[in-house]
Amino acid sequence: MVPDCVVVGAGPAGLAAGAELTGRGIDHVVVERARVDESWRTQRWDSLRVNNPGFMNLMLGEQKPNTYLTAGEVVERLEVLASTAPLRTGLTVHGLTRAGERWILGTSDGPIEARSVVVSSGGGRMFAAPRNGRPCCPTGSYSVMRRPTRIPVICRAGPFWPSGAPRGSRCDGPGTGTGTGTSETTPRTGATAGTVARRAEIGSVIWCTGYAGDFHWLGEDLTDPHGLPLRRGPASPAPGVWFVGLRWLIRRSSGNFVGFPRDAAVIADALESYLGPSGSRSSSDSAA
Ligand SMILES: Cc1cc2nc3c(=O)[nH]c(=O)nc-3n(C[C@H](O)[C@H](O)[C@H](O)COP(=O)(O)OP(=O)(O)OC[C@H]3O[C@@H](n4cnc5c(N)ncnc54)[C@H](O)[C@@H]3O)c2cc1C
Repeated sequence: MVPDCVVVGAGPAGLAAGAELTGRGIDHVVVERARVDESWRTQRWDSLRVNNPGFMNLMLGEQKPNTYLTAGEVVERLEVLASTAPLRTGLTVHGLTRAGERWILGTSDGPIEARSVVVSSGGGRMFAAPRNGRPCCPTGSYSVMRRPTRIPVICRAGPFWPSGAPRGSRCDGPGTGTGTGTSETTPRTGATAGTVARRAEIGSVIWCTGYAGDFHWLGEDLTDPHGLPLRRGPASPAPGVWFVGLRWLIRRSSGNFVGFPRDAAVIADALESYLGPSGSRSSSDSAA
């Protein structure tokens, strides 16, 4: 049966969306290219703690009001949330096309049809470096630099290897929040601060240009010339496609743990109206 909705990405935003859809009895599946919460498993450094205190992170379950969870604790808590979600892991979505009233997601395991799609593939999962002298993901917070082609670009977090950069060179990924620069933290798989400093002496560049999302799989109809999603608030201009987890979708907190559940509720309401009474419902809902 064609699900009413496919949620792309099982990070915190996608899991929040899934929980809201479940609460409304909307038939859906959450698909994830790797493991639940992959970004917090592999793209955070060991010493990272969430920068909002416990009382703000209600979606992560009960915790002391003034606690700051570690990345590992975030993963543990999101695994609990994921345990009740209809989930398919190890499935990468690489395309999205409209076919009549439905959407077809091209995936690593063949096409999947859906009546609607929630995109939660992450707005900060990739390294946002200028590429070929131009920013690859202009969010307004990067530094535009002219990059001589022979400077080794060292990147931990993403596939944005500018042409000419020697493969195998490394560097710190950018930080978020306060005090997350290369001199203060040691990423899990990146170079140590000392290594970075030594490399800097020989002409390396340390990019502190932030993170970005990878939306190329949405295609040209759903993205702007910079590769960012076309949207008004959380809604795509195309029928039946919503976004969750991006900064400033609806409110300032849209891009963090505080905002995910609230935005997810708004999106689930909109999606429910979109599906209308003909929308299929999960068996528990139909039985009620
Ligand atoms: C370094 C860093 C630290 C942060 N610290 C905090 C913090 O302390 N507090 C806070 O509130 N916020 C923080 N944020 C912001 C935000 O909360 C996190 O980025 C959060 O992980 C975003 O959740 P998300 O679900 O939108 O994206 P992600 O967590 O990135 O999840 C996206 C998921 O989608 C999957 N995916 C991607 N593409 C595809 C595809 N094509 N097909 C299938 N699956 C796909 C990925 O594997 C991933 O599991 C931080 C962000 C960063 C980058």
